Amino acid sequence: MKHSSEKHLAQHGIHPTAMRLLVLEYLLDNRTAASLGQLEREFYRSDKATLYRTLKTFEKKGLIHGVNVGGTTVYLLCRENCSEEGHFDVHPHFFCTGCAKTICLSQAKMPRFDLPEGFDLHEVNLILKGRCDECAG
Ligand SMILES: [Zn+2]
Ligand SMILES: [Zn+2]
Ligand SMILES: [Zn+2]
Repeated sequence: MKHSSEKHLAQHGIHPTAMRLLVLEYLLDNRTAASLGQLEREFYRSDKATLYRTLKTFEKKGLIHGVNVGGTTVYLLCRENCSEEGHFDVHPHFFCTGCAKTICLSQAKMPRFDLPEGFDLHEVNLILKGRCDECAG
């Protein structure tokens, strides 16, 4: 486990510090999104600024992507070939109102939007809300 996490970081050109490994393993184990607030509660002994920098480094290096859900940014692991060169995870996300988890809908196609002439699209933040399989039953 630890070895593969180190490899995962190395593949993205991230030096594996103890904090970075802890945060990555938390995100891997959790299998859902985590916000900075959640991480602060999980690693309450750690310096908040270090946690924040860890997330920013991961995001910059293409390891995670942030999604704004109801005013809170949550971070999810990238599965596409994201790197420092750029992110390719343009997909909708699903927010479960039952258990408050956010997941990537990597297979879902993004709708195409016809913009007025001269408009330049930078980002599409598409969040679907509903209940996940565990909560719907
Ligand atoms: Zn990405
Ligand atoms: Zn749920
Ligand atoms: Zn995603």
